[in-house]
Amino acid sequence: MKIGIMGGTFDPIHIGHLLLGEFAYEDFGLDEIWFLPNGNPPHKDTEETKKALRHRVNMVKLSIADVSYFRLNLYEAEVDHHSYTYQTMQEFNRLYPDDSFYFILGADSLFSIEQWMYFREIFPTCTILAAMRDDKDAEEMRRQMRYLKEKYGARIELLQAPLLEISSTTLRERAARGLSLRYMVPDTVAEYIRENRLYETPVI
Ligand code: ATP
Ligand code: MG
Repeated sequence: MKIGIMGGTFDPIHIGHLLLGEFAYEDFGLDEIWFLPNGNPPHKDTEETKKALRHRVNMVKLSIADVSYFRLNLYEAEVDHHSYTYQTMQEFNRLYPDDSFYFILGADSLFSIEQWMYFREIFPTCTILAAMRDDKDAEEMRRQMRYLKEKYGARIELLQAPLLEISSTTLRERAARGLSLRYMVPDTVAEYIRENRLYETPVI
């Protein structure tokens, strides 16, 4: 099987994430997309962040409930140690040797990937599907893709998806100001955020 991995903090998940999954599924003929919520970093494993992790996971569940090829993967959320992307991807390759993996990310991640822990180890484990985002134009994206391919032998493809200037940060800010999240997150997620009174206090 060809499996897309959509990793993120998902605090909260929004239509930017979901559309990347949908377009990757269609354009690259993938069989499944696994939504992979990040666990808590070791220095932040407090009661507060554990509760937030439960909410992050619940919102992913609500968002993908009706889509058979979208799955929730709790590997990073549940392992008792913090898992870096390279470790997770190595583990997936070990656990599922017959499958091939496509790691989906946005431009900001493509441009910061060299700051990720042991990022070189990621490239042999998957093909990267990189989507444009915000201020990076197509030319800059192509240049960065070429650079990573030439320097590290990375396999990277451009993922064409609608450009949406939307981020979890701005959604948290909107929620804190009592503004609407309608059409930016699935209705069930907007309702969940309201019911659980998430993001009501501004995060600094
Ligand atoms: P935050 O503002 O908290 O950083 P975020 O919206 O960037 O949240 P993340 O969970 O950090 O969401 O992102 C997970 C992945 O999804 C990253 O690779 C990011 O680049 C990508 N992504 C998120 N939103 C978009 C978007 N609107 N367009 C393209 N890629 C996106
Ligand atoms: Mg982000």
